[in-house]
Amino acid sequence: MNKHIPLSVPNLKGNELKYLSRAIEEEWVSTAGPYIARFEDMIAKLVKAEKAVACQSGTAGLHLALMEAGVKRGDLVLVPTLTFIAAVNPITYVGADPVFMDCDDSLCIDPQKVRYFCENECEKTDGGLFEKASGRRVSAVVPVHVFGNIADMESLIDVAAEFGLAVVEDATEALCSKFISGRYAGRYAGTIGDVGVFSFNGNKIMTTGGGGMIVARDAEKLAHMQKISIQAKAGESDHFYDHDEIGYNYRLTNVQAALGVAQAEQMDEFIATKKRNYELYKELGIDLLLFSDNVAPNYWFYSLMTGGRVRYTMDELGKRNIDSRPIWKLIHTLKPYRGSRAYNIEKAYHYFDNILNIPCSTNLSEDDVRRVAGAIKEIL
Ligand SMILES: *Cc1c(COP(=O)(O)O)cnc(C)c1O
Repeated sequence: MNKHIPLSVPNLKGNELKYLSRAIEEEWVSTAGPYIARFEDMIAKLVKAEKAVACQSGTAGLHLALMEAGVKRGDLVLVPTLTFIAAVNPITYVGADPVFMDCDDSLCIDPQKVRYFCENECEKTDGGLFEKASGRRVSAVVPVHVFGNIADMESLIDVAAEFGLAVVEDATEALCSKFISGRYAGRYAGTIGDVGVFSFNGNKIMTTGGGGMIVARDAEKLAHMQKISIQAKAGESDHFYDHDEIGYNYRLTNVQAALGVAQAEQMDEFIATKKRNYELYKELGIDLLLFSDNVAPNYWFYSLMTGGRVRYTMDELGKRNIDSRPIWKLIHTLKPYRGSRAYNIEKAYHYFDNILNIPCSTNLSEDDVRRVAGAIKEIL
């Protein structure tokens, strides 16, 4: 049997072991310790943010972000249907409900449809934006930067500003992706809306095993999210148990941050490898979806267009010991969200029927890419 080629796995060949050993030798393994602040500084520098706050996961970060963005019980939040369910569940955690939106050809939320929804399905009042059908307040939009691409933030920020929506960016897949032209040239995914969230889950471009990071435009809001992540303890150095609101246990540990520091040191290399392999697939004639023209992506995931043969292609690659994955089932069709509104979904169905994600790990060698490409050409 040929060597197994996984889809997207961790690459831990830098200083991971060294820093982990140090964290353990120094016996700083929990939510205090020197690697946490160091990791936060590194990520802030990578995305040119003032400051970043580390948390347990991208999901936890999105939960904190929605609370901080002012999403309240009973509100509606606009979110794409073509996404991982972790982008949607935090909306439910805060007692709000999603309204599912379509994607455009970037695979990210379609800002035109967001605009049509706000203009035609809602009423703007001094108290905010309200959906006509239900009378419920629409308080935020959650663009997801799918597979390392970035949503059309120029259009989206304009709509959000016009209709008074908070913007929480799910940048969990787009660490270090940035705009290279237009209004946001030089700006990184996650740093354009009110709050942005990254993930360091095992399949992401860099990993801490599990972990997340939050950035925000407003420094006070960011500090507040940090406080909420440690059970809302009133002062960091205050040893009396004074908690003045409800908090969570969402802080990253020093052990995870030790991994994070070692991984962040390698981000340039990781992106360069992902880019090289993406371009090699293209050179070899593989029909991968393009990233947006105005974006320098992190090339996290590669989307093969299968011409409607997702399952067949996945099964055939599997027989050759090569992993692949279909894109997510549309969230509005899944059991927990069937009762939620889905607004004019079209393109998301098309991409769901066509996209298969193919091996993209930073461990992938040139020979691996050639073998996968050869197999795809045989199959399709
Ligand atoms: C990975 C991911 C998340 C959640 O991140 P975790 O760190 O796994 O909680 C959220 N949204 C999207 C789109 C993701 O890909």
